[in-house]
Amino acid sequence: MPALQPVRGTQDLLPDEQRRHRAVTDTARRIAERYGYHEIATPIFEFTEVFARPIGETSDIVTKEMYTFADRGGEEVTLRPEYTAGIVRAVISNGLTQSLPLRFFASGPMFRYERPQKGRFRQFHQIDVELIGLAQPQADVEVIALGADILDALGVLPRTVLELNTLGDIASRHAYRDALLAYYRERRALLSEDSLTRLERNPLRILDSKDEGDRRVNAEAPSFAEYLTPVAQGFFDAVRAGLDLLGISYRESPRLVRGLDYYCHTAFEFVTTDLGAQGTVLGGGRYDGLMGVMGGPETPGVGWAAGVERLALLIGEPPRAARPVAVIPVGDQGEAPALKLAHALRRDGFTVDLGYSGNLARRMKRANKIGARIAVILGEDEMARDAATLRDLDTGEQIEVPLAALRDRLAPFR
Ligand code: ATP
Ligand code: MG
Repeated sequence: MPALQPVRGTQDLLPDEQRRHRAVTDTARRIAERYGYHEIATPIFEFTEVFARPIGETSDIVTKEMYTFADRGGEEVTLRPEYTAGIVRAVISNGLTQSLPLRFFASGPMFRYERPQKGRFRQFHQIDVELIGLAQPQADVEVIALGADILDALGVLPRTVLELNTLGDIASRHAYRDALLAYYRERRALLSEDSLTRLERNPLRILDSKDEGDRRVNAEAPSFAEYLTPVAQGFFDAVRAGLDLLGISYRESPRLVRGLDYYCHTAFEFVTTDLGAQGTVLGGGRYDGLMGVMGGPETPGVGWAAGVERLALLIGEPPRAARPVAVIPVGDQGEAPALKLAHALRRDGFTVDLGYSGNLARRMKRANKIGARIAVILGEDEMARDAATLRDLDTGEQIEVPLAALRDRLAPFR
């Protein structure tokens, strides 16, 4: 049998890497709480229709990337490729539309069948925020400000640019769609295969294409700005004014369209140049049409998702694990007291390492290797005096302490 390997596009998060991921999600959760966002978790798999319709039948996700299978009972289910549809499904299933607005934070694994490369996996993780039930542009400003604060707390904000666009309201989208159709129809010969299939169903999607030829065509494509209705223009102006007020800088990016069908008005991405082609670390927008598409009452919403792997690549050194106290018995008589002491210290809130074998020298070596801050050495002579030796592993300083005073002496190292 060949050595067992993880499935392509999946990876183990060994403790140092997992600590980086935790730093990202813990920071995001803490800041989201300041904004009044409460954590929610929805199932990792849902009925396929929960994702297929809302995400859009012409989208990359639905046409190529979903992990869909029939379960043993014959139900068509899909591993979630993104959070928004599941959260909106949860709002509808639980009747939460009675208590709007709702502010949610979520994090967890996502699954997309993609070509794996740096910053792109088949199982990856997202943090996600959703603000459901507010139609005002201030809501868009709020979620963008929250995203910027999280990136700032992670030290990543200065290495990103916020790109901003509007997808307008339905009337502007129709007008723009017609203009795009006319433009692309004249240039059919230059478009990729994928874009030709998108052309009649959803020409806006072509703007999002990563194909080189498509991109050249897109460079000259009509811009949405010329087709905005006064209402859509007013909404966009208010979002920009809000961002200006908060000192959040942005770059208008007329070709930015989100890959998903239910977006309207604001679309945004925080992009970095530090990750090659996988430069988008956080992306989102307004999705006023989604709840209705999913069979719930028409309810506006705005939110974003960010890739934890990409953010983890951008943050500096992972925070260190807590430095343990090493409890080291000398000789057989020390074993039982060491076990008891380690147990008591752990219950007291200390991080404790207790090796179970080796002489004093070997155990000291281990204590240094795992980065212990201090060693409690239980030698025969000291124990006869109801005492232990404390050794500061950074300075090498050593003192004898009565067992009764141990806790107090260790308190600074908890
Ligand atoms: P891309 O254009 O890079 O494919 P996307 O538009 O598909 O991104 P979204 O659906 O908006 O991405 O997801 C939000 C964020 O999740 C992305 O900005 C990115 O940081 C992260 N992300 C998306 N797909 C992957 C993946 N396969 N592996 C790792 N992170 C991902
Ligand atoms: Mg993608």
